Amino acid sequence: MGVEMEENRGAFDGHRAAELMVELREAFGSGRTRSYEWRVAQLKALFRMIDEKEAEIMAALYSDLAKPELEAFLHEVSLTRSACQLALKELKRWMKPEKVSSSITTFPSSSEIVSEPLGVVLIISAWNYPFILSLDPVIGAIAAGNAVVLKPSEVAPATASFFARTLPAYLDSSAIRVVEGAVSETTALLEQKWDKILYTGNSKVGRIVMAAAAKHLTPVVLELGGKSPVVVDSNVNLEVAVKRIIVGKWGCNNGQACISPDYIITTKSFAPKLVEALKSTLEKFYGEDPLESKDLSRIVNSNHFARLTRLLDEDKVYGKIIYGGQRDEKKLKIAPTLLFDVPHDSLIMKEEIFGPILPIITVDKVEESFDIINSRTKPLAAYLFTKDKILEEKFVNNVSSGGMLINDVALHLANPNLPFGGVGESGIGAYHGKFSFDAFSHKKAVLHRSFGGEAPARYPPYTLKKQRILKALLGGDIISLVLALLGWPRS
Ligand code: NAD
Repeated sequence: MGVEMEENRGAFDGHRAAELMVELREAFGSGRTRSYEWRVAQLKALFRMIDEKEAEIMAALYSDLAKPELEAFLHEVSLTRSACQLALKELKRWMKPEKVSSSITTFPSSSEIVSEPLGVVLIISAWNYPFILSLDPVIGAIAAGNAVVLKPSEVAPATASFFARTLPAYLDSSAIRVVEGAVSETTALLEQKWDKILYTGNSKVGRIVMAAAAKHLTPVVLELGGKSPVVVDSNVNLEVAVKRIIVGKWGCNNGQACISPDYIITTKSFAPKLVEALKSTLEKFYGEDPLESKDLSRIVNSNHFARLTRLLDEDKVYGKIIYGGQRDEKKLKIAPTLLFDVPHDSLIMKEEIFGPILPIITVDKVEESFDIINSRTKPLAAYLFTKDKILEEKFVNNVSSGGMLINDVALHLANPNLPFGGVGESGIGAYHGKFSFDAFSHKKAVLHRSFGGEAPARYPPYTLKKQRILKALLGGDIISLVLALLGWPRS
C-alpha cells in the first residue's frame, strides 16, 4: 500500500504503526529484499529519481530553508547521488562473504564473515539537510538488504512531503515506506520492535530514541551534534584559512549544520588579525547587507529564530558582538555574526549554536585550546588550522571528536572512505560508504567443517592423557604434544 493511501486513513497512531510493521515483516520474511537484484533495482530507481526530480528536490529545499541552489546541489543532491552510485558500484564486493583464517582449535575448517540484513529498520531524520540525511541512510539500509521506514523531519515539510509523494513511485512500497509526522507519529513508530534505528538530530531526542530502542534490545546509530571547535594557530595562510572557515560555517546552510564551526579558539596576539580577515572576507562574500544576500539560507523557522536571538541577547553576550548582529524576524534572517571573548559560562558557550553566530575565544598559547575542548563533551568535529606538524600530531592524538579535519572545515564528510559519526555526546555508530552497509548488516560468523578431522581428546571420558594432549596442543608446545600422544611423562 502506498504512503498516500496510508495517509488517507487518518492519524498515524500505534495501531497503524503495528500494521505497518506486520506488512514490512512479511515483505522482509519473503526474502525478496535479500537478493542482489532487488537491492540493485531499488538503488537504480533511487538514482533515477534523483536525476528526474532534481528540480523538485531543489524547490523543496528552497521552500524549507531558502537553501542557495549551489549549496542544495553540492551538499544534498550531488552527495546523495554519489552515495547511490558508490553503493551500486561496490555492492557485489560488500555483499561477498569475507574469508578469514581459522585456528588450530577448529582444524580442519574454513571461516567466513557473512553480512546479513538485520530485518526491518527505522530511519528518523533531521531538517537541516533534509534530503541527504534521509536518503543517505536509506541507501545503506537498502544496500544491506533491509526493509525500511523513513521518517523525515516535519521541520522541513516540503522535503518530507516530496519523499512521501515520490518514493512510492520509484521504490518497492511493500518494503520501503515513508511515514510523515512529528512527535506523536515518531513515538508510535518507536513503540514497535525494529531491528535497527538510525536517528539524526539532537541529543535530547537521541536519549528518547535510545530508551525506546532499549525496550526491544534494538541497536541504534545516533547521529547527534555538539559544539565543534576550530583552533586557529598564528602561522596559518590567513586568507585561505578564513575563506574555508566562512564557507564551512555560513556556506553550509548558514551555520545550521551538525559539523558547522561552533566557536573559534585562537591566541590573544593573533586574534586581531584573524578578526579583521574574517570581517573583510565576510563582507566580500555576503555584501554590506547580508540580510539581502541570496547566498545564505534562512533560519528554518520562528522557534529556531527565537532560540538564536535568545543566545545573542543574553546580557553578557550582546555587548560582545564585533560584526553582524542584524536580524529580520519576518524573513527569518540573521546576519553572519562574530562575537569576541564571550564568557565561558554564557548560554552560547554551553549550547550547540546551530546558526550564523560564531564566537571567538582567546588563549595565551594555542596548546591551551586542547584542554578547553577536552573539558567539554566530545564534539562531532574538531578543526585545526596550522602549519606546525607537531601541533597537528598532538591535536590528532589528544583531542577526541567524531571526526577531525586539519586546515579545512566540513570536507571530511565528503570522503566516503571515512566513517561519519560522533563519539560520546555527539553520537553512537557511524555511516557513509561501506560503513552504511555495515551499519545495517549483521556480521555473521560462519565456521565450516566436514566430518573428518576427529580429535578424540575432545570427548569424554576426560582422562589425564587427553588433558595433557589438549593443553600441549593449545599451548603450541610440540614436544609436550608428542610426549602426551606417546603417553610418556614430560620430564
Ligand atoms: P529535528 O527537529 O528535525 O528532529 C529530528 C527528528 O526527531 C525528527 O524526525 C523529529 O520528528 C524527531 N523528534 C523530535 N522530537 C521527538 C520526540 N520527542 N520523540 C521522537 N522523535 C522526535 O532536528 P533537530 O533535533 O533540531 O536537529 C538538529 C540537531 O541534530 C543538532 O544537534 C545537529 O547537530 C544534529 N544533527 C546531526 C547530524 C549528524 O549527521 N550527526 C546531522 C544533522 C543534524
